[in-house]
Amino acid sequence: MNYDVIIIGGGVIGCSIAHYLSERGASVAVVERHTLGAEASGAAAGLLGVQAEWTMYDSLFQAARKSRSMFPALSVKLRDKTGIDIGYQSSGIYRIACNEETAQQLRESVLWQQNLGEQAVIMTGEQLRDKEPAISPFVHEAVYYPEDGHVIAHELTRAFAYSAAASGATIYEETEVLEIERSGNTITGVVTSRGRISCAQVVVAAGSWSTPFLHMQHVGTYPVKGEVLSVTSYKSILSVPIFEEGFYIVPKRGGRYIIGATVTEGVYDKTVTMGGIQSLMQKAVAILPALQEAKWERAWAGLRPQSKAGAPYMGRHPEIEGLYMCTGHYRNGILLSPLAGRYMADLLEGKSVREEGFVCY
Ligand SMILES: Cc1cc2nc3c(=O)[nH]c(=O)nc-3n(C[C@H](O)[C@H](O)[C@H](O)COP(=O)(O)OP(=O)(O)OC[C@H]3O[C@@H](n4cnc5c(N)ncnc54)[C@H](O)[C@@H]3O)c2cc1C
Repeated sequence: MNYDVIIIGGGVIGCSIAHYLSERGASVAVVERHTLGAEASGAAAGLLGVQAEWTMYDSLFQAARKSRSMFPALSVKLRDKTGIDIGYQSSGIYRIACNEETAQQLRESVLWQQNLGEQAVIMTGEQLRDKEPAISPFVHEAVYYPEDGHVIAHELTRAFAYSAAASGATIYEETEVLEIERSGNTITGVVTSRGRISCAQVVVAAGSWSTPFLHMQHVGTYPVKGEVLSVTSYKSILSVPIFEEGFYIVPKRGGRYIIGATVTEGVYDKTVTMGGIQSLMQKAVAILPALQEAKWERAWAGLRPQSKAGAPYMGRHPEIEGLYMCTGHYRNGILLSPLAGRYMADLLEGKSVREEGFVCY
């Protein structure tokens, strides 16, 4: 077996790169040790929260904005090509403030966002409750970001992979990459649990498990565990996602509500804890008391891949010919996945590209 490019990791990032590369005619294989989206990409709530997440400007904001703008056309394209509906909702997101101090910080973030041409509408608690009557008086103020939205993260991952396969890519599931093979400083292939595969280029998109493949000191990823739960309700409780620092309630189709997420750094186990779920439930019920009547569905945990540099590594290895990395998208990998895939496809094709906010070597 011989491919132009082997991608290590069948999460949303690896599958997006495979989608863009194989559409351009490259021969690509994705090697995934479990199943597609088995890790962070299957655990995510799917928020495309550019303005809701970036209340402080940093260099990644522009990339996040660009990536968000790719979703409307992408969702149509992936549905037409694969039959998979990624559940794209351009509903907007409410970022809420439960006290005056947070409301003041939000108002300040609205100013710089509006200066950059983004839409943001400040709402009093009463105005918010006119739109969403189930929200409790505990919520003091909110900002509505109409351009933000959400998708079904696992379906997006699958759709990227199926699209890549429709363009000729090979997807290896239940296959672990054990080692990247090279001759001197040039990539020659990978050794997997099912044998050797030749290639000229390898992209490391292994999420929280990327470090051993990156071959650079001080460069690596680590997990940040997040616990999440979901409930269902026959009655509509909320139509637009609510976001507060590190906490959200996301209404999904079929009367589902995803409530997340806890934050525990450096933990590789995905145990769902009583304390974690209790803290999410308490907060959710304080904001939306009607959730007390909702039916329990399930709880799970996932590992956000954080980079040691604090921003995603996206580029080529400075010394090893043919080795590329695209990892460390932390809590925004679903949002950043279309831009990351297109950017890496450009890079692997030899184009000179640069994107603010990505860590490149
Ligand atoms: C609870 C939670 C909520 C989140 N919510 C959001 C959200 O609302 N919006 C958003 O944008 N982002 C969100 N995120 C973040 C997002 O999920 C991640 O940034 C994104 O999924 C990272 O994708 P990835 O492909 O890099 O990593 P992963 O999805 O972790 O994929 C890496 C893959 O590599 C595979 N792998 C590892 N080692 C090997 C090997 N040796 N051989 C073969 N395969 C290997 C793994 O099995 C895994 O499938 C959330 C994350 C969590 C945990």
